[in-house]
Amino acid sequence: MGTEGKVIRCRAAVAWKAGEALIVEEVEVAPPKAHEVRVKIAASGVCHTDWAYLHGAGRGMELRPFPLVLGHEGAGVVESIGAGVTGFSPGDKVIPLFLPQCGECECCLSAKTNLCKANWSKTQQGVLADGTSRITCRGQQVFQFLGVSSFSEYTVVLETNLTKIHPDAPLDRVCLLGCGVATGYGAAVNVAKVESGSVCAVFGLGAVGLAAVMGCVMSGAGRVICVDVNPEKFAKAREFGVTECVNPRNHSRPVQEVLVEMTAGGVDYALECVGDVEVMRSALESCRSAWGVCVIVGWTELEEMKLRPFHLLMGRTLKGTYFGGWKSVRDVPGLVEEHLAGRLKLDEFVTHTLSLDQVNHAFKLLAGGQSIRSIIKM
Ligand code: NAD
Ligand code: ZN
Ligand code: ZN
Repeated sequence: MGTEGKVIRCRAAVAWKAGEALIVEEVEVAPPKAHEVRVKIAASGVCHTDWAYLHGAGRGMELRPFPLVLGHEGAGVVESIGAGVTGFSPGDKVIPLFLPQCGECECCLSAKTNLCKANWSKTQQGVLADGTSRITCRGQQVFQFLGVSSFSEYTVVLETNLTKIHPDAPLDRVCLLGCGVATGYGAAVNVAKVESGSVCAVFGLGAVGLAAVMGCVMSGAGRVICVDVNPEKFAKAREFGVTECVNPRNHSRPVQEVLVEMTAGGVDYALECVGDVEVMRSALESCRSAWGVCVIVGWTELEEMKLRPFHLLMGRTLKGTYFGGWKSVRDVPGLVEEHLAGRLKLDEFVTHTLSLDQVNHAFKLLAGGQSIRSIIKM
């Protein structure tokens, strides 16, 4: 592309401080070092987690170092590769992954988990393997959120945090498989392991929750009950196949009591896709005793959840999931192909397509409950 080995000056949305609006700035993106890949981002979804790290930093979320380029749900094309990279070539369509798959650590070698540990603590702190980021702005190092930073026209990621996808993949749709849709869908099919004919409840109808609904429906669930405090989310949820909608605000008793009554004892599977510790408790208590399974998908790092051990003693299972249980490098290309074959919805999640300059508007839409997913097109 003529830019190989050179610093690329491009635009990125920089979060200078927690709680403040992003500012679209000219940034410098350094060439990839060994085992790194520079990617020209084509599109990026705006996930609740981006918003939460900006506005919930120090409350529900650990404080990350700023300045920071957010965005972790992107897709793009390889611009250039660093020394020692063998799995990627310029021009490849790719999805950056906040969850790596190195193939060598004890987690990668186990079929029990997708939690690869390669450079984990570094990418969580916004830097790559050598302890620095590849983005600078106004002479300052800018941290890369989760080692990705897809709210930038270019970024550099570790080769273990990238997967090559089908050349026909529509980048402004498959970016959603870099986080939200893959996570919610996987939570239902890989983690809850929803069975045919079962009764499911999904709490929270953002992209993650709707993807969980999709997973329940595709697994042949007999009933999918959705719970959201925003009734405007219900029409789309019905299009995705939910059978009943419950707004906790329309009831004077706890929503778990409503669900237990509706299902004569509780649901087989409950998926919490909100990130609220009270909702997590409701989800667990909505589960049927003996075999009900509650999966926590919504994110919080610092808050504490209350539960009565009795609910577990009576045979309920409480689990959580990161990225829906998918082994990231191995499984995301298959999800892209499922979409290309018409079996996995993506278009239906997109409510807004915006430019990078409109990224703060995308956050407003998300926080105001007016969007499912906004796609930022670079
Ligand atoms: P979103 O903001 O688009 O959707 C959240 C939904 O929850 C909204 O529809 C909102 O109205 C609803 N809600 C809020 N309070 C509620 C309540 N008390 N009861 C019922 N519904 C309520 O968010 P999203 O992008 O879909 O993400 C959902 C959650 O998943 C977030 O916490 C996000 O950080 C988390 N997440 C986790 C992973 C993971 O790997 N586990 C990955 C991606 C996102
Ligand atoms: Zn996300
Ligand atoms: Zn690994």
